[in-house]
Amino acid sequence: MVKYSEVIWMLVLFFLPSQAWAQQKVPILIYHSIDEFQGQGSKELYVTPENFEKQMIYLRDHGFSLLTFEHWQDTSKVKKPIFLTFDDGYKNNMKVYSIFEKLKTDQFRPTATFFVISDFIGRSNRLSKAELKKLADSGMVSVQSHTATHPDLTKITNYKEELEGARDAIKSITGKPVIAVAYPYGSFNSKVMEEAKKYYSFGLSTTPQYYSENGLKNELFLLPRIYIKYSTSISDFEKIVNGG
Ligand SMILES: [Zn+2]
Repeated sequence: MVKYSEVIWMLVLFFLPSQAWAQQKVPILIYHSIDEFQGQGSKELYVTPENFEKQMIYLRDHGFSLLTFEHWQDTSKVKKPIFLTFDDGYKNNMKVYSIFEKLKTDQFRPTATFFVISDFIGRSNRLSKAELKKLADSGMVSVQSHTATHPDLTKITNYKEELEGARDAIKSITGKPVIAVAYPYGSFNSKVMEEAKKYYSFGLSTTPQYYSENGLKNELFLLPRIYIKYSTSISDFEKIVNGG
């Protein structure tokens, strides 16, 4: 004969672990240019500084913790973890820095990861060495790798130059570890992941999903990212950062 209280306990024990194991959905956002759209290139790859600032105010006022990949382990420890990433190293990304400077408080410490193309550093529309050093020194921006020349990594063989070369070039500018690579065009396969693993701890795709730990062998080289676009409204943004 099972007592009523025992049944309750059995139910509690049955449901507790599933609660405890409930997977956290971590948004890793991807941006490109933070600027007014001037008619050149793809409009959806721009977010205006005004919209970006509103998005950051939303994150600040709703208790999000902005992380970079050096602090990956903190995703399971902090409140509302979120990663902001910026690809291609455009000069207009200095606006990210100035908006962070403006919005930071003792509680809100904004951070972002800039994935730069090492051979493009210093071109007229890209961040310069001095800017990258300043960003890295600020502690608000982690400068990471988007390869040396932005090839489709599934179509090349010179992985050492593209992956190790870019890593070492960026590290020589910032003096900080380069541990993550964003695959150009989000393009990768098992060979690309195997090569990326030789030089990095993280590989980022553009698969439009949230990150949830799944225990797969290569999960840190399959990190998904969600686009924030020109057309993303603040209510779209709220939905995205709160799990869709
Ligand atoms: Zn790119």
